[in-house]
Amino acid sequence: MNPFDLAGRVALVTGGNGGIGAGIALGLAEAGARVVIAGRNPEKNAEVLARLREIDQAAAAITLDVTDRAALEAGAEAVSAEHGAIDILVNNAGNSFFSGGILREEPAQWDLTFATHSTATFLLSKAVAGQMKARGHGKIINIASVYSIFGSADLPSYSATKGAIVALTRSMAVELARHNIQVNAIAPGWIRTEMTDGVPGTDFERDLLARTPAKRWGVPQDLAGTAVFLAASASDFVTGTVIPVDGGYTVY
Ligand code: NDP
Repeated sequence: MNPFDLAGRVALVTGGNGGIGAGIALGLAEAGARVVIAGRNPEKNAEVLARLREIDQAAAAITLDVTDRAALEAGAEAVSAEHGAIDILVNNAGNSFFSGGILREEPAQWDLTFATHSTATFLLSKAVAGQMKARGHGKIINIASVYSIFGSADLPSYSATKGAIVALTRSMAVELARHNIQVNAIAPGWIRTEMTDGVPGTDFERDLLARTPAKRWGVPQDLAGTAVFLAASASDFVTGTVIPVDGGYTVY
């Protein structure tokens, strides 16, 4: 048996129409999973769905705002009803405010950042873990950040919510391990996506590349292999971990 084979598995990837989410969604589909992406923007959904359907005709997309609490459970139920119970949940949807620090950041920015990352991860995992428990297996993959570890003078709510994602990952891992549900996180380093569009060409980019031993930006495809590993039986005895995918940023 190929321990990385995802044939017969159903995966839900939030923010699957964006940079990293699309990289992960395409990787899971290549490994055999039936992938459903979720995002707010139907045009972006359709674009990535077309690429997924080149791999699997039955791939799907749903319009979902992860800050809409009531929509999360209903969204998970709709995916299960149409495509089968969710075996793999990737909590990836994200936003960030380059607010310039707590002296400038607005409470509304803090609230939206926590709603998008921590609260959505909690609620969607809660909705899906019940099904996983009943079926005796499941994989939850949360997208953290190198800012889960390091402080940021410019994005305090982002750093705080990514720290919370790691703590939540560990707590869910401990609770759910007995039900054969593994919960892990990936901490990407600097990845070229819409979220980091403002960085190229700045002094900040020069500094971050100098600080990255691989001396390059990551690309969304760099995340695919780690996501497949964490979604597959290869990682059945791996839980509560945070795997950096960062070109060495966190060890330098
Ligand atoms: P993108 O901006 O490319 O993608 C963000 C995705 O999140 C989009 O698909 C967007 O879709 C979705 N999204 C945002 N808000 C919501 C919402 N309220 N409901 C549903 N979906 C939402 O950014 P990245 O791909 O870079 O980011 C993906 C994840 O990776 C995030 O969690 C981010 O924090 C994390 N990350 C990114 C790093 C980087 O360097 N790029 C580094 C470390 C972590 P739509 O607009 O259609 O809703």
